[in-house]
Amino acid sequence: MENLRQDLEMLYKLQSYDTKVDNLKKQIQQTLVKIEEKKQDLQDKCADVESQKKSFVELSSVKKEKEALLNFKEELISKHSQEINTVKSNEIYKALLLELEKAKVDKSKFEDEILELMDTIDKGALIVKSLDKNYQNFETKIKSDIIEMEALIENLKKEIVSVEIFRKEQESKVSKSIFLQYERLREGREGIGLALIDGESCGACGMMLRPQLINQAQKGQELVFCDNCSRILFKK
Ligand SMILES: [Zn+2]
Repeated sequence: MENLRQDLEMLYKLQSYDTKVDNLKKQIQQTLVKIEEKKQDLQDKCADVESQKKSFVELSSVKKEKEALLNFKEELISKHSQEINTVKSNEIYKALLLELEKAKVDKSKFEDEILELMDTIDKGALIVKSLDKNYQNFETKIKSDIIEMEALIENLKKEIVSVEIFRKEQESKVSKSIFLQYERLREGREGIGLALIDGESCGACGMMLRPQLINQAQKGQELVFCDNCSRILFKK
């Protein structure tokens, strides 16, 4: 009787180490998820900045197209200006004059548009610069957050190693057969194989216990299990 009670006492302590290790592992998992989220944030931000920059890059190619059109009009104007001096027919002269006028109007329109584009591109360059700066700051912050979280994980791992040393030592104090049952019960029960009796209920699942079970557990002559969750019951 005394042996079983002692075993369960030792097992109870062992479980506190197991719970500690489980919690530390959970913290590591949560931190890893956070790191992934941070990396994703950075990727999203990068994509966002790139797409904003893209619209300004596109403006430059629009400007180039306009310049090519302007060039074409200027050539046309110079060609017509020469032709108009050599024309003999009045009708052709009139037609050329009309075309020349039209080309001049177009040329002036393109010049205005190009000036406007240049202005927008200048403003865009400032925006791009601030976007880049903003992204750099964001990246620095994210990277330092990640380094901090990685350091935290390292510390948690070290803590696990030291708790596991105590746990191993505690394991040697528990009878092998009870330990093995406990290990089996831990699986699928959130790592809890041993339940303290809390008043009249199972301290793990909360189910009301039969008085007979509580009695048996109190006597400590045999292992008693919760009818509902099957965990080993222990009355302190
Ligand atoms: Zn239970």
